Amino acid sequence: MPTSEPDRVPGGRAACFAVVDPATGETFDEAPDQHPDDLDAVVGRAHRAWHGWRADPAARTTALRVAADTVEKAGDDLARLLTREQGKPLAESYAEIARTVARLRYFADLAPRTRRITDGRPVHSEIRWRSLGPVAAIVPWNFPLQLAAAKFAPALAAGNTVVLKPSPFTPLATRLLCSLLATVLPEDVLTVVTGHEPLGARLASHPGIRHVTFTGSVPTGRSVAEAAAAPLARVTLELGGNDAAVLLDDVEVDRIADRLFWAAFRNCGQVCMAVKRVYAPARLHAEVVEALAQRARTVAVGPGLDPATRLGPVNNAPQLARVERLTKQAAADGARAAAGGHRMDGPGYFFAPTILTDVPPGSPVVTEEQFGPVLPVLPYRSLDEAVDAANGTGFGLGGSVWGTDLDRAEAVADRLECGTAWINHHAETSLAQPFAGARNSGVGVAGGLWGLYGNLRPFVVHRPQEP
Ligand code: NAD
Repeated sequence: MPTSEPDRVPGGRAACFAVVDPATGETFDEAPDQHPDDLDAVVGRAHRAWHGWRADPAARTTALRVAADTVEKAGDDLARLLTREQGKPLAESYAEIARTVARLRYFADLAPRTRRITDGRPVHSEIRWRSLGPVAAIVPWNFPLQLAAAKFAPALAAGNTVVLKPSPFTPLATRLLCSLLATVLPEDVLTVVTGHEPLGARLASHPGIRHVTFTGSVPTGRSVAEAAAAPLARVTLELGGNDAAVLLDDVEVDRIADRLFWAAFRNCGQVCMAVKRVYAPARLHAEVVEALAQRARTVAVGPGLDPATRLGPVNNAPQLARVERLTKQAAADGARAAAGGHRMDGPGYFFAPTILTDVPPGSPVVTEEQFGPVLPVLPYRSLDEAVDAANGTGFGLGGSVWGTDLDRAEAVADRLECGTAWINHHAETSLAQPFAGARNSGVGVAGGLWGLYGNLRPFVVHRPQEP
């Protein structure tokens, strides 16, 4: 097993913590509650394993390809467990596992390029690339497997070892994933640690960690950057978003409504780059609200294991409370729910899919990241006003523009201050693209070759040119 089990219970701390099924609100399993002091041994082993792992790129490629096959074969078990602890519909769990496998395959075959450069003098410099050492990968609960793989696949491909810390809301599928990978990777190359804070904070500040790659909220990202400053570890931060969708006046509402709805509500809105605000021309605003509200009223909401379900529960009680608080605040600010607007009766963390209209632009449901099944739709009168509003929060992860004239839509997209902009869809990414948030949404670059180089350091050899 790559998991590092707690071997003691310091200070009366429980050895395990409960994992809740968000569809019922009931505990269904538990995970080891590791003490931060355990990290010294875990990171020490990761450091020792690094020496062998970094030495043989061809062996790494083979191991990561086999790892992808192994995960693929275990898809059924992983998918059910992921749905159980995360809440997402089973079909979305299968899709997440396919994306996890795709990341392993993609990075297995990616290698840095050694190259010679010159500045015109009779010396040449050769740039080689070296791995960093043990990498800490800290991930949230919305896509536990996919986001973990997005971190460990490039880090391992680059020759580093990884200590992975999932969210305490979703530790189980990650533990299963890592136990599968332990059958094909050398010992201690990938280790998972589970537990509550300060486990993540101690991992981020551990002197043996050379790169902290973190995905999560903006406030936690700031703490992680501070923690990693002590050992001067590299940081890559993929943080929250508040993506706007700007609809242009030539948009055909019927044609885009389904795509727009799912861009906001997939994974119950718990997607960093979900559409979190819609700006519609005033003339089309009522039509857009009704098209989205009609879908929100009729979408099948239920437990993720029910094959009829399209939208599952919110993942956890604190997040449900946040979604409810922002929605109530919007109502107090004068907003009206064209659909939903409340928790659903019965067990579990279900919130009725909600479309908000008449929302003041300064209401927190617009300015903050709701990260749940609630979508404000705001009218605009001029395009400049819409672009200013889209750019008007501190976030800068993604954004999209929707219309019939693609050139015009692209010109508007070019004005969005974010890392990725889409036209007539939202949140689709390529494994080969750089993924980087602007402003508060991130530091550093993940994805594609940039993600690989983010896990490497340049090592340069100068020598005189041969006569
Ligand atoms: P979070 O910031 O609360 O937690 C993220 C991870 O950090 C968890 O594993 C958590 O246990 C750990 N953690 C908590 N406190 C820590 C500390 N002081 N030091 C180190 N680690 C600590 O985020 P969350 O609620 O799990 O996830 C939702 C957030 O993640 C949203 O803001 C969402 O937008 C963001 N997110 C961003 C991306 C992206 O690629 N930009 C992708 C998915 C999610």
